[in-house]
Amino acid sequence: MVTSSVGPVPASPSARIAVLGRGLIPADEPVLRGDDRGVLHGDGLFESMHLRRGRPWLRDEHLARLATAAAAVDLDLPPTDTLVDLLDAVCVGWPAQVEGALRLVCTRGPEAAGRPTVYATLTEVPASSRAARRNGISVATLPLGVPADARTGLDWLPAGIKSTSYAVSTAARRWAHRAGVDDVLWVSSDGYALEGPTANVVWLTGNTLCTVPAATTGILPGTTVAWLLAHADQLGLSGAERMVTPSELHAADGVWFSSSVRGLTEVRMLDGVRRDHCPHTPALQALLDFPVV
Ligand code: PLP
Repeated sequence: MVTSSVGPVPASPSARIAVLGRGLIPADEPVLRGDDRGVLHGDGLFESMHLRRGRPWLRDEHLARLATAAAAVDLDLPPTDTLVDLLDAVCVGWPAQVEGALRLVCTRGPEAAGRPTVYATLTEVPASSRAARRNGISVATLPLGVPADARTGLDWLPAGIKSTSYAVSTAARRWAHRAGVDDVLWVSSDGYALEGPTANVVWLTGNTLCTVPAATTGILPGTTVAWLLAHADQLGLSGAERMVTPSELHAADGVWFSSSVRGLTEVRMLDGVRRDHCPHTPALQALLDFPVV
């Protein structure tokens, strides 16, 4: 059933999965073979997008980042039109009033198959993400154990890709849970703040909205922060890429984490030090057009 964009908001649409070559399948049907290299080695790529008014926001930017990553790891992606059709298939009929977390996954597939496994999932944005937008988050810095330029100095190691090998990120999230904070900010061994396990860091110094450069650090070039910095002039701010230390972040006029599904969440506590609410947060969130309810 296709739900119109007006009318009552359905309680909770159920999760969906569409698989390349099979279309929309019941969510409890198997998708992957046990010998898929995505499962065996974490050998694959993914993108997470924000579904708003039934459409994936910044879809083309996400597909472009996926294509760059696929070239970096020699993964044969299906043509872009095919990926767009797959995304359309999983989104069709999703209620326009319900925010969605849309994920596109491309693994290297089983060795014998010789082609990637490609599927898309769609779920409702978790309540925790919406609460983080509203209330902000607490963050603790966590050592990454390597200098800021270590990864870009290794020509064999693809940097800044959204690989399905997320074990380091999930370890950091578990550490955050044990430490009683909402998220972590990785810090290089030479003292620079880099990124969170699933987010970029954004800060305001005077009228300049800043983030960490991806090209020289190997962090993920975030689609959300790129869009935010490119449109910051609408709020009378300029955008810049800079290196930053945690003590400079403590002194900043505002600090946020940005990512596709959570959107822009203000860091209200950094390493146990409470930060005043930044008066720019509502305007920045409105600029990104994420619902804050
Ligand atoms: N950095 C990392 C490591 C991430 O995993 C993510 C998103 O998941 C981001 C940054 C934010 O990127 P985007 O705004 O494109 O979601």
